[in-house]
Amino acid sequence: VSEKTIFEKIRDKEVPSEIVYEDDSVVAFRDIDPKAPVHVLVIPRDKIETFSQLTGWDDAAVGAFFRRVSEVAQRLELDKGYRIVINCGAHGQQSVDYLHAHILGGRQLSWPPG
Ligand code: 5GP
Repeated sequence: VSEKTIFEKIRDKEVPSEIVYEDDSVVAFRDIDPKAPVHVLVIPRDKIETFSQLTGWDDAAVGAFFRRVSEVAQRLELDKGYRIVINCGAHGQQSVDYLHAHILGGRQLSWPPG
């Protein structure tokens, strides 16, 4: 029996978070340790651990997830732009094993990432 990750607990409202958007396919909430003035995480309701595992989803499910990420970003009114980040695995420095897209904005971001 595997332990729930923190994001499953957030999805299931077992731990509080500042949810900015949710529907039947995603939950979007503010990052507890924001790396930019706006830092929101978007998770699919159906848990998978990493971006790599998206190969197991059909095109419609993948598309639904990415469309929601775009819609949530639009709601955040980041008129000057923003960045979508998905960390994957150890080298990607993924720290929570539940697929999530970061939406980062509200300041000029630099490139490349570390
Ligand atoms: P990763 O490093 O896996 O790409 O991103 C995980 C993110 O989850 C980090 O930016 C971290 O600040 C955020 N995070 C970790 N624990 C919590 C929590 O309990 N609540 C919220 N809202 N965000 C969290």
